[in-house]
Amino acid sequence: MPGLAPGIFIWKMLSKTGIIPAHKKTIREEFDMARVALVTGGTRGIGAAISKALKAAGYKVAASYAGNDAAAETFKAETGIPVYKWDVSSFDACAAGVKKVEADLGPVDVLVNNAGITKDTAFHKMTLDQWNAVINTNLGSLFNMTRQVIEGMRARKFGRVINISSVNGQKGQFGQVNYSAAKAGDIGFTKSLALETAKGGITVNVICPGYINTEMVQAVPKEVLDKNILPQIPVNRLGEPEEIARSVVFLAADDAGFITGSTLTVNGGQYMV
Ligand code: NDP
Repeated sequence: MPGLAPGIFIWKMLSKTGIIPAHKKTIREEFDMARVALVTGGTRGIGAAISKALKAAGYKVAASYAGNDAAAETFKAETGIPVYKWDVSSFDACAAGVKKVEADLGPVDVLVNNAGITKDTAFHKMTLDQWNAVINTNLGSLFNMTRQVIEGMRARKFGRVINISSVNGQKGQFGQVNYSAAKAGDIGFTKSLALETAKGGITVNVICPGYINTEMVQAVPKEVLDKNILPQIPVNRLGEPEEIARSVVFLAADDAGFITGSTLTVNGGQYMV
């Protein structure tokens, strides 16, 4: 299973056969061998699909969220995945949140930076608050979250960082100067960090979804969707959150170690790069 740590698995098998001596088990070996995955914004939309797919693939998953307690509790009850509330735009909140997750589940092996927001408006009407909120949540969060786990990943010589950007970070979008700037920044972050971590067993990749059928897109008026958005998508439909989730599971796998610094475009053919 891609979510299992193969080294520990082989070691345990050999211990059982007596080929190598048994040793005092670490806490992680004692309780399970699954890798730990943390998904920000993992309780709704694309993030919820990612959390569920990683769990199905054998990972121990933690899902964070910002403030929608009702959605988070429903998600937790339905999936059994623990949920944690903090604001990814705050460095200190991320530090405390990751510490709690690691105390509960163990060191984070896979970080999915998925949490994001939009505050769309034409640039000449955009306020500083709209700019800051979107930049800090969609781009600042990559620093705030990844910085908490990178030293542990370096020490353990294994890590997967998967960032969720957007097609609009690749091509730009009317009314989304803040969002496109942040999402383009996610791509630059990914490429640079991938270079820095490549020798250490850590991969860093970014996924650029096109229009996906979540509340974020359901908020777009149907008329705009039918007239302006769907005609741009060659497959002639919105993507489903599960179609992003399967890309995350692919990149998170232990045997995906040769894929790093890549931008995976999942957009129904809307924009080909
Ligand atoms: P949703 O609005 O459906 O869900 C967003 C999730 O992120 C929620 O769990 C929300 O928590 C959480 N979140 C938002 N802000 C913060 C914050 N400051 N701190 C912590 N958590 C936060 O979004 P989508 O599933 O549609 O989008 C997920 C990602 O995919 C985003 O990065 C988005 O930009 C990107 N994307 C989406 C596309 C789409 O078509 N939907 C297309 C391209 C990219 P809570 O529930 O508490 O509000």
